[in-house]
Formats: sequence, C-alpha cells, structure tokens
Amino acid sequence: MLDDYKQEQPIAYKILINSIKKDRCSHAYLFETKHYANKKKFALAFAKYLLCPHNSADKDHPQCMNCTQCKRIDEGNFTELKIIEPDGLWIKKEQIDQLQKEFSTKSVESTKKVYIIHEAEKMNAAAANSILKFLEEPEENIIAILLTDNIYQLLNTIVSRCQIIPLNDHVSDQTSSMLEKVMHLIKQDNDISKEDLSDEKNIDKIKTVTKFVEQYETIHKDVLLSIKQLWFDTFSDKEKMIEGMELLMYFYKDILNVRLHSKIELFIDEKEIIDSLASKLSMNEVCDRLDVIINLKDYLKVNANINLFMDKLIIELERRR
Ligand SMILES: [Zn+2]
Repeated sequence: MLDDYKQEQPIAYKILINSIKKDRCSHAYLFETKHYANKKKFALAFAKYLLCPHNSADKDHPQCMNCTQCKRIDEGNFTELKIIEPDGLWIKKEQIDQLQKEFSTKSVESTKKVYIIHEAEKMNAAAANSILKFLEEPEENIIAILLTDNIYQLLNTIVSRCQIIPLNDHVSDQTSSMLEKVMHLIKQDNDISKEDLSDEKNIDKIKTVTKFVEQYETIHKDVLLSIKQLWFDTFSDKEKMIEGMELLMYFYKDILNVRLHSKIELFIDEKEIIDSLASKLSMNEVCDRLDVIINLKDYLKVNANINLFMDKLIIELERRR
C-alpha cells in the first residue's frame, strides 16, 4: 500500500497524497525514478490508491488492501488498470493504440481508469506522438502514470503536460553495505594519482579503459570478440594488465562518484561518458562491477596467465548481472 513508502519516499508520498486529499488529482504524473529499486511497486501502490473505491470515500484511511478491486489489481486482473512496458527495446505505437482503444469504453469497475507506462523514455517516436495526443486531450476519469529513469530522454511536450514527481534514489541496506565494502577496498589500494594520469604516455591507457567500459556496458559479453584491439594492444603484459585493472577500478569509482553527487576524481576529461553511464547504471550495479574488478585484480597479481584473464573478468561481471 502507498503508506509503505512514507519513509522511503517521503516527498513523493506527500505530494501524491495531498493532491488527492485536496481533490487536485492530476491527469498525468511523471515519476522521475532515478533507478529507485521499488519504482514499479511504488507506481502500482499509487494506482491502487487511486482505483480503490474505499480510499476515495475515506480519505483519511488509505489502508484498504482487501476489497474486490484491490485484490483484482494484485492479481493483474483489473480492466481499468493498464500497464505498458517496452516490448523488446521499445514501446511501440500499437501498444499505445491498444491502450487508447481499451480506455475509450465506459468504466465498468471503477470511476477512474489508470495506465502506467514503465520506462517511458523507451517510447519510439510514433508511440510518443500517440501518447502526446492522449495527454493533450485529457479525459476526466483517465489518469496517466509515466515512469522514467532519465527525464531528458522524454519529449519536452510530454514532460510539460505531466506533474513531475521526483523519487529519491533510495539506497537499500544491501547496497549501502556493498558500497561501504567497495570504498574500503579502494582506499587500501591507492596507487594512481592525478599526476600519473595527466602524463602524455597515459592518454592511450585512459582512452583504452574508457572505450572498454563503454563497449562492455553496451554489448556486454560480446566485447570478448574484439578484446585484442580493445584491451590487449594497450595492456600487453602482466605489469600493464595490473595497471589497466587499476584504471578500470578508478573509472567505475568515478561513475560511483557521480552517482553519489561527488566530483569526478581521475577521469575528468571523460566526464560526458561517465555522466551518461552513471545515468544508466544503478548504484548496486556499479558496486557489483567494482567488487568483481577489485577481487580479480588481486587474483591477477598471483596468477601468471594474462591471456585468459579478460575472459574471466567478463564472465564474472556477467555472472553478477
Ligand atoms: Zn480496496
């Protein structure tokens, strides 16, 4: 129920509850989710709050979970609630058209109809235009809940028609203990300085590490297909490999810095790429990558065979995904 998020999302909770209590329910909400882990559950809890007849009748007790409507929502079986997610890479126009068709009939089960669009930034151009038309001519009883991790990837015209609800990037206990562990390990391992990196000789290494991460985060295990020129041409022996792994560690550390709203420490010239990766990866994912890299870096120091090392690294990273 929505009340479960009072602690985790105090601001969003307050805005939403107030808008309903004061009868100023918006036609369209845009949840700026910033990789918040419980975003889907949170959106569903709000939809349920909107749709349950007991909540609107008794505004001070938004606790209903067991009326017929609530139960059917839980079972994913309630006709006045429609949830749209990417079909493959994109949300397609047909999905939006289908929604509009279904919502054009009169409500039977509730006075309101609600639709949720997860990862709204993945609407292709045709879908975005369809939804825009839908938002431009709002119907009294239809409420939209759009979710996005990256508001800048949505059409301005869509954003401007929604009430924006910022969610906290709430860090779970598991992530924060992981974060602590990773920070501790990095501290023990402070071999590279900014001066080292600004050295001309190192530009190649920095470019290699940057390119490698960019590629890995896009095509994942397929980086192994071009690993020779992607990695081994620059980090060709064991000593260089250790250095490469250190740089890799600092690269992800800088992504973490951005996520934690601190300054980029080492990869200052790569800011654009680091910012973009930081907007794509959750805190937990970055911590996971760092944990793997730090562990394998130590393994590399005692193990002579560097040829299979990158395979091992990628396999480990993939295993955690
Ligand atoms: Zn209910």
